Amino acid sequence: MCRRNCYYCPLSDKRKNKDKAWANERLIKNKDEMIEEALDSKATGAGITGGDPLISLKRTVDYAKYLKKKFGESFHIHIYFPLDLVNKTNLEKLYKSGIDEVRFHPDFENKKEWSRIFLAKKFDWSIGVEIPVIPGKEKEIKHLIDFIDGKIDFLNLNELEGSDTNANKLLEKGFTTKNRTSYGVKGSEELAVKLLNYCLRKKINVHYCTGKLKDRIQLGNRIKIRASSEKKKYDKVTNEGILIRGAIYHDKTIPSFGYKKRIEQIKNNKKEYKEIIKDLEKIIKEIKSRNNLKPESIELDKEKLRILTSLPIIKKVSKTIKNKCAIVEEYPTSDKMEVELDFIN
Ligand code: SF4
Repeated sequence: MCRRNCYYCPLSDKRKNKDKAWANERLIKNKDEMIEEALDSKATGAGITGGDPLISLKRTVDYAKYLKKKFGESFHIHIYFPLDLVNKTNLEKLYKSGIDEVRFHPDFENKKEWSRIFLAKKFDWSIGVEIPVIPGKEKEIKHLIDFIDGKIDFLNLNELEGSDTNANKLLEKGFTTKNRTSYGVKGSEELAVKLLNYCLRKKINVHYCTGKLKDRIQLGNRIKIRASSEKKKYDKVTNEGILIRGAIYHDKTIPSFGYKKRIEQIKNNKKEYKEIIKDLEKIIKEIKSRNNLKPESIELDKEKLRILTSLPIIKKVSKTIKNKCAIVEEYPTSDKMEVELDFIN
């Protein structure tokens, strides 16, 4: 949730203005689910973002304290938010929760709020400003840089990027992507280079993060680490950390248009959910006894209501079974987002 409505906001419709918490791709209902996700990802730190995490300050503080309690002082936590709700009391609560670093996202048009950044100096943590590099805003950004010069620890510049959510608004403002294969907005990188030079001359500690770095390197590394803990005996794992596995579907859960919504509807209907689980368990039992399989070579996926197994087994079983079988390539993330799905029968 957020009080601001920046035209460049990259948040997806799934997350924007929803009073929900996510840990990576996982929708979490409580603190322990957050810890599970951190363990699955072998996380050594966390970044709390929003929307504006100050809107749910109590939850933010509660979750930060819990992370520190479970993983110890060295588990580094940074938090990123706009200035709308920044005041001394809120910052004090964040500081006492154990958060190590604050990153402010000021509104270029609302200079009156900028001085709130310095309220953070009352506490012993690292203080930064993090902003998207918007082409055409050179003057405003330089003004902000002059304002913070010598008073905070670092400045993070992010390449402005298009997303499914903000694409129309960016187009309306006349922005386009720099090329067909990139989400990076044309002109953002060129302005970033000018700003980096400006900061270097002023000896400001500055970092620039391209979309490519975020997606291919940061996300890529996280995916690879997660694959190592998520991988099952029957999975093949690509160099990028993508899991390749065989899947057998119930007649009511075959992937097609509206697949995710359908799975959610079934999970909300206890009777239908139980029937499908029972049917799938029966299929597993039959396959195991007919093919003399080890228990770990085939299993039920209660989240996506399907049976998972190895490629050799799925190829063999698909010839004798009426249920739809597929070879699936998917991310090792908690939502197991499919990259590719090929039905083989
Ligand atoms: S402050 Fe951040 S979360 Fe809020 S609308 Fe702007 S970009 Fe989105």
